Amino acid sequence: MARELYTARLARKDCISEVAQCYHFLFEVEGRDSFDYLPGQFVSAVAPDENGKQQTRAYSIASAASGNKFELCVNRVENGFFSNYLADLTLLPVGATIQIHGPHGHFVLQEPITDSIFVATGTGVAPMRAYLQWLFPADGADRSQGKDIWLVYGTRYESDIYYRAEFEALANRVPNFHYLPTLSRADDTWKGLRGHVQVHVAKIIEERAKRQGRTLPAPPVDPAIPAANLNFDIYCYICGLNFMVSGVRELLDGYGWHKKQVVFERYD
Ligand SMILES: Cc1cc2nc3c(=O)[nH]c(=O)nc-3n(C[C@H](O)[C@H](O)[C@H](O)COP(=O)(O)OP(=O)(O)OC[C@H]3O[C@@H](n4cnc5c(N)ncnc54)[C@H](O)[C@@H]3O)c2cc1C
Repeated sequence: MARELYTARLARKDCISEVAQCYHFLFEVEGRDSFDYLPGQFVSAVAPDENGKQQTRAYSIASAASGNKFELCVNRVENGFFSNYLADLTLLPVGATIQIHGPHGHFVLQEPITDSIFVATGTGVAPMRAYLQWLFPADGADRSQGKDIWLVYGTRYESDIYYRAEFEALANRVPNFHYLPTLSRADDTWKGLRGHVQVHVAKIIEERAKRQGRTLPAPPVDPAIPAANLNFDIYCYICGLNFMVSGVRELLDGYGWHKKQVVFERYD
């Protein structure tokens, strides 16, 4: 069955990092009052390349559902077709349209909400921004039920910390949201965290176990318990390129985490 294609009109495009060539997009789906999706899902964007061949690429939605709008966060990939098409001001100016289908994907928050570690590098922060907008809407409502929510965001330079002001403001407003940007190639002026995301995820897990008086690694879950009855008090959500996702999964495995506690999306 053919997928339903929607036309999305570009209402706004902002370069959020010149150095990383990363862009934030606001689209409006034409002819619809609402475009519904779960935070963490993605759309598939479709466009013909220079040979007239239809190309399709997945892009995580970087916002919680709101009317017919959705937002994307895309960085240019060297020699890449679609990312450069989206980022190019001549090919895709404000007012132009793209075709999309979706929403798609299972990279969504597990219910009920538990303590959660969100781990992202680069534009992998897009679905995390959607989660956070849903958990802590701007009107002051709170769906987190007081659970601890960490965002560990790894990048190389301070100039590539996407949405930093937004996340800092959220961390100031919400005491149970902990924002941990970490740089792998920081210069001497950087006063924040350093190193890869794994280092800081490990600290979160070890300090939490200490507070709870638990030992690590966690004891294995009884394999006789059916998947539907498994009950975890913390999940980790990981999004970005495969080498980072694999590294964090291995780390969690070493702490005895069950595979169902780890939800991930790989961009490559
Ligand atoms: C579920 C899902 C969600 C995604 N969400 C986002 C998102 O929110 N924002 C975003 O910017 N990208 C996202 N991506 C990646 C996106 O779909 C494209 O792969 C990316 O934009 C590159 O496409 P392109 O046409 O420009 O490059 P292509 O023409 O497909 O590839 C050009 C070259 O770049 C390499 N390459 C492909 N993808 C990447 C990448 N992500 N990083 C580095 N090198 C790459 C390829 O191996 C190839 O050598 C997502 C991917 C998946 C699977």
